[in-house]
Amino acid sequence: NAKQAGGNTYRFYQDTMADNYRNIVAMRNKLQAALDAEQLQVYYQPVMEFSTGKTVAIESLVRWQHQGSFISPVSFIPIAEQTGQIIQIGEQVMKMVLRDLVENPGLAKLSVAINVSAQQLRRYDFVQFLGAVLAEYQIDPARICIELTESALLEEQGHTLALPNQIKALGCQLAIDDFGTGYSSLSYLYRLPADIVKLDRSFTRDLTHDLKQRKIVEMLVSTCNQIGKTVVIEGVETAEMSELCQQLGCDRAQGYYYARPMPLAELLTFLNRPAEQG
Ligand code: C2E
Ligand code: MG
Ligand code: MG
Ligand code: MG
Repeated sequence: NAKQAGGNTYRFYQDTMADNYRNIVAMRNKLQAALDAEQLQVYYQPVMEFSTGKTVAIESLVRWQHQGSFISPVSFIPIAEQTGQIIQIGEQVMKMVLRDLVENPGLAKLSVAINVSAQQLRRYDFVQFLGAVLAEYQIDPARICIELTESALLEEQGHTLALPNQIKALGCQLAIDDFGTGYSSLSYLYRLPADIVKLDRSFTRDLTHDLKQRKIVEMLVSTCNQIGKTVVIEGVETAEMSELCQQLGCDRAQGYYYARPMPLAELLTFLNRPAEQG
């Protein structure tokens, strides 16, 4: 009967909540062990420029291998944001990337993107940390591009743009990541001191068969170009998509079609291919 069903439903919710909680605690503990042992790694994914066909930038992406298999950042970053561990992750990733830049002259011509999440910006003085490590590693800030998601930016109190402006003031580039998913207005885009706009992968997926989506992307790309922003399209997986994105006016592209995220040693080999030279 209804009462019984209600009771069961209630218990079901209680159980799933308890399960969720246990999962979060288990994940937090495993993650803390990995952080303490400095087991996180960074992979790099090339970003290709249409006008030259060459890699002009790389994006750093954190990797966590646990007992032989990778755990996706899509699952552990949100938990790390809740537990506060995102601060430690962010610091370790930043230092690994800067160390790779110092040690590898082969990367000198590339701009390097680093993802920074909402909690990383707000839980402590991120800009102060960024300035300090750039000085410590003696890295030209102009080589670093900080990627903030559109939704993280929209969380900023009163949309004052204080944090994005401080990052720009350090001399770093700024990119707005996953653009098109956060319902920000075009006037916000105009005010934002971002150099680069990364169109979310959800656009790319439907591009080849959905004419409306194509029109939207075309409009976004031309607006961005008119206000001086470089447009990167994410998630390009086929030659057909790549051609279309170029036709639509995108400046750069990133996706499995060109290269997957890879460890530093593989990246260095990739950058030595004949296609990247001359
Ligand atoms: P994101 O910054 O938008 O990064 C792009 C994601 O798309 C990466 O997933 C990349 O591997 C994936 N990708 C690239 N090309 C393709 C493609 O052609 N097809 C498909 N299906 N996927 C593609 P990944 O590495 O799993 O990272 C997921 C998200 O986790 C990132 O999205 C970013 O939001 C976050 N993340 C990754 N590394 C870090 C980090 O060091 N710090 C912070 N705060 N967040 C990170
Ligand atoms: Mg990113
Ligand atoms: Mg993205
Ligand atoms: Mg994304």
